[in-house]
Amino acid sequence: METKQFKAESKRLLDLMINSIYTNKEIFLRELISNASDAIDKLYFRSLTEKNVKVNREDLEIRITPDKEKRTLTIEDNGCGMSKKELEENLGTIAQSGSLAFKQKEENKNQDDINIIGQFGVGFYSAFMVASKVRVESKAYGAEKAYAWESSGTDGYTIDEIEKENFGTKIILTLKEDKDDEKYSDYLAEYKLEELVRKYSDYIRYPIKMEVEHEKPVKSEDGKEEKYEKVKYDETLNSMIPIWKKNKSEVSEDDYNNFYQEKFSDYQKPIKTIRTSVEGDVSYTALLYIPSHMPYDYYTKEFKRGLQLYSNGVLIMDKCEDLLPDYFGFVKGLVDSPDLSLNISREMLQHDRQLRIIAKNLEKKIKSELLDMLHKNREDYEKFFNTFGTTMKFGVYNDFGLNKDNLKDLLMFYSSTEKKLVTLDEYVSRMKEGQDKIYYACGETVDKIELLPQVEAVKEKGYEILYLTENIDEFVVQVLLEHKEKKFANVSANDVDLDTEEEKETLKKENEENKDMFAMMKEAIGDGVQEVRYTHKLKNHPVCLTSSGAISVEMEKVINSMPNDQKVKAQTILEINDSHEIANKIKRLYETDKEELKKYSKILYAQAKLIEGLTIENPTEISNLICEIIAK
Ligand code: ADP
Ligand code: MG
Repeated sequence: METKQFKAESKRLLDLMINSIYTNKEIFLRELISNASDAIDKLYFRSLTEKNVKVNREDLEIRITPDKEKRTLTIEDNGCGMSKKELEENLGTIAQSGSLAFKQKEENKNQDDINIIGQFGVGFYSAFMVASKVRVESKAYGAEKAYAWESSGTDGYTIDEIEKENFGTKIILTLKEDKDDEKYSDYLAEYKLEELVRKYSDYIRYPIKMEVEHEKPVKSEDGKEEKYEKVKYDETLNSMIPIWKKNKSEVSEDDYNNFYQEKFSDYQKPIKTIRTSVEGDVSYTALLYIPSHMPYDYYTKEFKRGLQLYSNGVLIMDKCEDLLPDYFGFVKGLVDSPDLSLNISREMLQHDRQLRIIAKNLEKKIKSELLDMLHKNREDYEKFFNTFGTTMKFGVYNDFGLNKDNLKDLLMFYSSTEKKLVTLDEYVSRMKEGQDKIYYACGETVDKIELLPQVEAVKEKGYEILYLTENIDEFVVQVLLEHKEKKFANVSANDVDLDTEEEKETLKKENEENKDMFAMMKEAIGDGVQEVRYTHKLKNHPVCLTSSGAISVEMEKVINSMPNDQKVKAQTILEINDSHEIANKIKRLYETDKEELKKYSKILYAQAKLIEGLTIENPTEISNLICEIIAK
């Protein structure tokens, strides 16, 4: 008999399972039951849509059989079954390649295996946490032949033709030997199996049956004395009521969380559970979850957003994208509606009026629940926003700002005065008398922004500033334009002007008087700047760079870092602090040594660029100039 090798990646995962230190080994049962249920779903769904597939809903079941003597636990279903090829493909390799890439990355970090198990329903292989040998006997629906797949671990597996009467799959686990700290034989005890099914698989919509031993009173022959006799009969271990159809009062938070973790393969609890039912024109129940962390593949092509779609408890689509807008793509969950027809196609769904109504309602619901979290549980909301805020910011920016009004109340930015994330409403409510703008500043980090010369000046006047640290932020602000009729203003922009009329007048005069000097300085610098002038807005810093066009210095950085050939350049003004010593120095140089002033101009410009986090094009020249001055 030929032993086939597992694909390398499967082997590693398998290894991880076999040597698992994962304390929650019992989840193997829910994984196998969930696979059995999926297989029945598939077959049942086919029976509704294909003429030659005939099954009786009542006959569909999952059966668990412990055998203490043989030390085996068998899980059997009458679902779709697997062909030889499917056995090989489904059990010999891991389907999700994305998970593998992730795992490899994680491996170097010496992460424990818990995350990995939870993260991608490694499902079937979890059997190896408790079993030394796993045998899968399967017959695909409608097929002639049946096959057995068998493996004792990483050495490989065999596939043989076998006799099997009924279609479906039978998984036979030979449990590992008991150890002091791990009694695998527990999984042969009826009470334990009952407990596990109730805990993890209660909602499975097909009966999970097991032959259970009961004591039955029997009368002795004389009709008096009562005796007890052991009899075995089938018991259905699960209630079969989907969690979202149970009375709200019957479902605990733990139940919702367990369901989420199992169903959506997450090792962490969700940060928020939303359950909503609507009856009327369109009726539906939705159970939605907001994850507490970012799925590892969220920003990759592999990630598919969408909700599970059920029609009266029967799964009709696994990821229905049309139920969620992109910017709420992180939401997981399901929708069950009796109004949807079972054999509706993907294309038809897109145009389905009912589905569109449901989607609109859900969007509103998600938003109102998020706002609720923001107002009632700030800590959670901040955590949520730190995880998924960027997604919503893209939502504001995309489609030319179509959804901005819908989303802007959910946004948060870091505040210079509060030293934490604040909403736009909060900012506006704190605005000073006479303040008519929402000030913001951009940079890579809060610390770097704090050091910007222009920030210093606006803070000095007592205004709160929003610090925008993400690349997308400034684009978002530009799309928003204003909030509550207060316009956004970049502190580094030309039009931010905090001077009094009088101060403006003096500055104008001063600039006028020195205009020849500034023209010369501009010429020395070259293309880089549009203008050189004095400013009042700086306190301690000698110079700053101010943008004067639609593209700010920060946007120049962001746009130019993107992989396209179009490079943009912000229009900038070099501003010199008129109360800094350097202001006098340049005046003096203009009178005594114009050549020297030209060198100074270049250095000042380079300095301003560096402060803004821009690169300078001529570092050698600047460095030489500085040396020249130092060496004097
Ligand atoms: P997942 O369930 O996430 O796809 P698993 O590792 O749990 O991953 O299962 C791998 C695949 O093996 C399944 O996708 C399915 O195609 C197949 N499979 C597992 N168990 C059964 C079963 N009882 N009946 C039919 N197919 C099964
Ligand atoms: Mg599975």
